[in-house]
Amino acid sequence: MRDMAPQRVAIIGAGASGLCALKCCLDEGLEPTCFERSKDIGGLWRFEENPEDGRASIYRSVIINTSKEMMCFSDFPIPEDFPNYMHNSKIMEYFRMYAQHFDLLRHIRFRTSVCRVSKRPDFATTGQWEVVTESEGKQEAAVFDAVLVCSGHHTDAHLPLNTFPVDELACQLGVKPNLLTLFLTDPRLALEVAFGPCTPYQYRLRGPGAWAGARKAILTQRQRVVRALQPPGRARPSALPRILKVLFSILAVIAAILVYRSRSP
Ligand SMILES: Cc1cc2nc3c(=O)[nH]c(=O)nc-3n(C[C@H](O)[C@H](O)[C@H](O)COP(=O)(O)OP(=O)(O)OC[C@H]3O[C@@H](n4cnc5c(N)ncnc54)[C@H](O)[C@@H]3O)c2cc1C
Repeated sequence: MRDMAPQRVAIIGAGASGLCALKCCLDEGLEPTCFERSKDIGGLWRFEENPEDGRASIYRSVIINTSKEMMCFSDFPIPEDFPNYMHNSKIMEYFRMYAQHFDLLRHIRFRTSVCRVSKRPDFATTGQWEVVTESEGKQEAAVFDAVLVCSGHHTDAHLPLNTFPVDELACQLGVKPNLLTLFLTDPRLALEVAFGPCTPYQYRLRGPGAWAGARKAILTQRQRVVRALQPPGRARPSALPRILKVLFSILAVIAAILVYRSRSP
């Protein structure tokens, strides 16, 4: 009967990693509980003059060094009017939009530290873990089927894998875009995937976690980058494809020459 109940997952930390882990668990029909020892989401991106003990924090003026199309959650593009390289306050704004959009907050227990994770005595048959948490000085133990450690790597670094090859992982999971099939079925998209920037949406086109909005997100990524470079309040750039603009320009020049010649003596 245990197989029928949703699997319970403990997620440690509600920074960028914890938030998307939470969202993915919900997508898979799991039952996640996220434990965050501070009072809010965002992890090190939530600036505070005096961050809590044990929480890494950026400094006041940090601007992220990864562009918005590269850093975004793969199924939640960053709004087009956000700068391409965001100040930390905009990153927090984006995290809050993500948490709100996917209704994540109700699964997070704030001001709750995970003190210990250990295998249950019957782990060999159940695969279950005991997670001990502490909140307001009170300890509590609960049993989970899985634990996702998203506690960050800037205060207590623990990197169990020597390498983390994204491409190899993508192949193993079956989410790497198949360029040949794409060129045959959707050449416009194939061109952008093959020759455009390698943005995270590419890994949501197929396989587990495929997202219906991935194609559109890929085809509009340049538009979002360009939009962020426009002065505020300026009208959106025309959606007319560049090729049509070039064609119209050539036709206009030809028309001007013909008119000029017809009027010449
Ligand atoms: C100064 C600085 C600048 C950076 N700039 C960039 C950049 O420009 N581009 C880029 O891609 N990356 C950058 N990074 C890398 C950064 O690691 C990632 O961007 C990302 O924020 C990491 O998210 P995370 O969720 O893994 O960890 P964190 O953001 O550290 O979140 C971990 C969370 O876990 C909670 N937690 C920890 N232990 C427990 C516990 N036992 N119980 C309960 N909760 C716990 C913490 O309170 C925290 O909220 C930067 C890092 C730093 C320090």
